[in-house]
Amino acid sequence: MDQNAQVLILPEGAFRTTGRDAQRNNIMAAKAVAETVRTTLGPRGMDKMLVDDMGDIVITNDGATIVDEMNVEHPAAKMVVEVAKTQDAEVGDGTTTAVVLTGELMANAEHLLDQGIHPTIIARGYQMAADKAQAILAKIGKTVALSDVKILEEIAVTAMTGKGAESNKEMLSKMSVKAVRMVAEEAEGKVTVDLDNIQIEKKEGGSIGGTELIEGLVIDKERVHSAMPKTVANAKIALLDAAIEVKDTETDAEIQITDPSQLQAFLDREEQMLKEMVEIIAKSGATVLFCQKGIDDMAQHFLSKEGVLAVRRVKKSDMEKLAKATGAKVVTNLKDLSKDDLGSAKSVEEEKVSGDEMIFVRGCKNPKAVSILVRGGTEHVVDEVERSLHDALGGVAAALEVGLIVAGGGAPEIEVARQLREYADSVGGREQLAVNAFAEALEIIPRTLAESAGMDAIDTLVKLRAKHEKEGPDIGVMVLSGKVDDMWKKGVIEPLKIKTQAIKSASEAAEMLLRIDDVIAGGRKSGPPMPPGGGMPPGMDGMGGMPGMM
Ligand code: ADP
Ligand code: MG
Repeated sequence: MDQNAQVLILPEGAFRTTGRDAQRNNIMAAKAVAETVRTTLGPRGMDKMLVDDMGDIVITNDGATIVDEMNVEHPAAKMVVEVAKTQDAEVGDGTTTAVVLTGELMANAEHLLDQGIHPTIIARGYQMAADKAQAILAKIGKTVALSDVKILEEIAVTAMTGKGAESNKEMLSKMSVKAVRMVAEEAEGKVTVDLDNIQIEKKEGGSIGGTELIEGLVIDKERVHSAMPKTVANAKIALLDAAIEVKDTETDAEIQITDPSQLQAFLDREEQMLKEMVEIIAKSGATVLFCQKGIDDMAQHFLSKEGVLAVRRVKKSDMEKLAKATGAKVVTNLKDLSKDDLGSAKSVEEEKVSGDEMIFVRGCKNPKAVSILVRGGTEHVVDEVERSLHDALGGVAAALEVGLIVAGGGAPEIEVARQLREYADSVGGREQLAVNAFAEALEIIPRTLAESAGMDAIDTLVKLRAKHEKEGPDIGVMVLSGKVDDMWKKGVIEPLKIKTQAIKSASEAAEMLLRIDDVIAGGRKSGPPMPPGGGMPPGMDGMGGMPGMM
């Protein structure tokens, strides 16, 4: 390594680590992130309390949330955070698994580096193992269909076990499955689930048991006027992105009032304009109005008289959901509003939830619009219930979309590890060692689950390996009873995609990190002379593109 080059090519204040130091630092960082979330894994996993610089607190058991809130700075640690984010985006569950696996792959790579094995060989061996693992998983996956309600509920329960919603997981898992089945679409034997169709609305107060599935939407707003109907059946719904007001600027500029009669004339004119605006709405046939902007007091009065249930200052995102659910078009110019723009729903109702009014839009034109109104004693509780639901919904959706599922409790990890060891024998050269290291890394999942249940980790692994030889791929760690058991029979079931995605992201991140032997960080106060791309976090996007620096 030419040390002089460093002086010549890098700006003042730049920081560089090379060779072994760079590798060791990256390994340490990845391990540190994994170690942070490892104790949250499984039904007996612990929670983390995260406090940000504003003093806001998040209490969670969710891997993706933890690594996100940790706000890590080390570039290699950031890559591990990316693994969690990818897992969350692709599956919605299994984030802790993916992060822990990445950390363990790096830890095992470190042992091989210590034995003098070149990182490129390790990376190649890992890649071979990851490919093989996908093939093994595809074989042990069992099929699942939309009609397998009981199995789907078990998947939801498995996803929620150990989370904040633990005590209500039966009820919440039934609700999750019902919601997913309502929005699922089946065509040519293939199921697709658009989770955007399931809206989660939170309202603190009451208890988790009060969480409710609504066939429609919930809007956290109230009627603008108490004289308006509280309930509208067979609602014709108008969505308006314009204020029902007479703009002050228009009047300010033009009117100079010199005597009281002029004032009266002006007010009359304003009243007349508002009346005309409301008439357009009434004439369109609308019985419910959601307005994204304001509604003048006088207009509210006229709308009440017309028997229209009106809501103002509705969030843009809610307007979009309303449009999708009711089939209404969002109109930006009131004059354009016509019958054709209206959407429909069986009922629109204002109801009191914990002292606050909310608008429930039920029986929408599009039956695929459903909502879950999450209840719970405090903000922290509803937030954690939402995260649990997110995992359950994601798990059930992933199971249906791929159509394959596996037993949980570390069973698939043990099975893949076992078969990878057999495969390793057929792999010549030093890559074989890397394949074995990969197999061992997978066992971190059952090992951690065993530890969390207070079982002896080594004994448990030995037992699991032996039982897999004889009894097949479903034997895992039954954390709640502290025994090695058939997880499938016990109803601990997960979507195959959690496993395939975790292995894919974890191995890709590990391989990438292993190929890095140079971390170059531009000085903080670095000015314009930095080369293009020089300002980005080192080791991130730029990692493949720095050959000139070596
Ligand atoms: P992740 O973020 O990876 O989903 P979790 O904390 O949800 O992390 O833990 C998931 C792991 O816990 C999976 O390996 C799953 O099979 C396992 N698990 C869930 N319920 C049980 C159970 N009742 N017994 C044993 N393992 C379980
Ligand atoms: Mg989970």
